[in-house]
Amino acid sequence: MTADLILYNASVLTLDAAHPRAQLVAIRDGKIFAVGENEDLKEFKGLRTEVIDCQGRTILPGFNDAHCHFVALAKSLVNPNLGPTKVHSIFDIQREIRELAQNLSLGSWIRADGYNEFYLAENRHPTRWDLDKATSSHPIKLTHRSGHAHVLNSLALILVGISRETPEPPGGIIERDLETGEPNGLLYDMGSFLAKRVPPLGDSELSQGIKLASQELLSLGITSIQDASSENDFQRWQMFQQWKEEGSIKCRVSLMLGLEGFNQYQAERLALGEIHLGGVKIILQETTGRLSPPREELKQIVRLIQQSHLQVALHAVEETTVEVASSILEHILQDSPRTNHRHRIEHCSICQPKIAKRLASLGVMVVTQPAFIYYNGERYLKTVPKRQLQHLYPIATLLKAGVKVAAGSDCPVVPSNPLIGIYAAVSRKAETGEVILPEERIPPLEAIRMYTDLAAYTSFEEAIKGSIAPGKLADLVILSDDPTKVSVEEIKDLEAEMTIIGGDIVWRKD
Ligand SMILES: [Zn+2]
Repeated sequence: MTADLILYNASVLTLDAAHPRAQLVAIRDGKIFAVGENEDLKEFKGLRTEVIDCQGRTILPGFNDAHCHFVALAKSLVNPNLGPTKVHSIFDIQREIRELAQNLSLGSWIRADGYNEFYLAENRHPTRWDLDKATSSHPIKLTHRSGHAHVLNSLALILVGISRETPEPPGGIIERDLETGEPNGLLYDMGSFLAKRVPPLGDSELSQGIKLASQELLSLGITSIQDASSENDFQRWQMFQQWKEEGSIKCRVSLMLGLEGFNQYQAERLALGEIHLGGVKIILQETTGRLSPPREELKQIVRLIQQSHLQVALHAVEETTVEVASSILEHILQDSPRTNHRHRIEHCSICQPKIAKRLASLGVMVVTQPAFIYYNGERYLKTVPKRQLQHLYPIATLLKAGVKVAAGSDCPVVPSNPLIGIYAAVSRKAETGEVILPEERIPPLEAIRMYTDLAAYTSFEEAIKGSIAPGKLADLVILSDDPTKVSVEEIKDLEAEMTIIGGDIVWRKD
């Protein structure tokens, strides 16, 4: 039998324990057909075989971003970005918005993304009154880099129906002037409230964003994503289905459902098609000292998901919510034991060793974001209390305890480049040079596994993805060099040169 495509003269890091290194990968019918040495070339080469000489470059299994937000990424690529590279003050934000308003008809929405109050000269979030100074004739929705906060100007507040009398929606916070009770424009965790009230991005803009996002992921060697958006519901599912069918999204997609999506799923089941069903994503947070959703309610939800034989994905960042998440999972699993549940905690940012041990004994996985250390390290050092800082993204501690850890970018919160995440997990270095918890460093190969075989494991797809072995999907990335052999500092500068999905070359560097 001959191959459709052969990559040879490569340094292949297979992540297959039975055969860790090779020189050649042969592909047939979209799958890996053989893994071998250069001299095997003759055996697999036929008349129609395409042969690529990799000239010593490194082949890895395609990266799997185990936690990202694809639609938000798409929007961020078409919406104006007011991140720290562009604006340094609220004054700058006003200037940018004024400029945008000039090119828009009166009354049309201005949506801008990426502001980060930590890097603004005023060191605070803008308010409605700041934005009103930029324009009062266009409604404005300004989204924080985290996606968890928005600022609206006065006109936008009127249009979405938020006034002094509006009560807080569940899980959300309307920040108010202390004396008058007047909303100041800053809204926390009200993304789904706003999604129902702010008109969506135009179809052509959105589809342009989707294509740009798809290309961006391919150019980074990402062949699979796990979308962890809590807005994911039946409608979102159909949109993804359509984007896949028309080829706007090239990578493989595993979609988690939000709570609403989960309720729909229970009522009518989804036609699965090309989209893989991930877990059910529940955001657990502590805002102004209160747990949302409240403990008993969360327990109910988790129990229901568990009974539906789906995977629970609990978003927990703070020390308290990580503790609550683990104790609720423990409770539910004791009540109704289930093997191979692969429940996961997303972020698990502050995690003490004793919690790590508990997660390991429960078989709960952690999906973490090593690139946060790189992009946010400077801010963590300045703002996270010391007692918590010593348990911040403790990847080595988790691994040592026996927890399976996978990684995602959480893009567009930070850029999606897995090599930055791998670099950060290996170096524990921030972009600005500070080192955060050097004792939590892990070896490059372990860091790669978080984006490949362990990421595949988190979505129950390890039989078809995550390593280079005969029979697995031919999803591969060719890198400029070997992350396990270059110096640590060089890891972050490595580049994807070619990305292959199902045996098709879907991206190559010019
Ligand atoms: Zn997220």
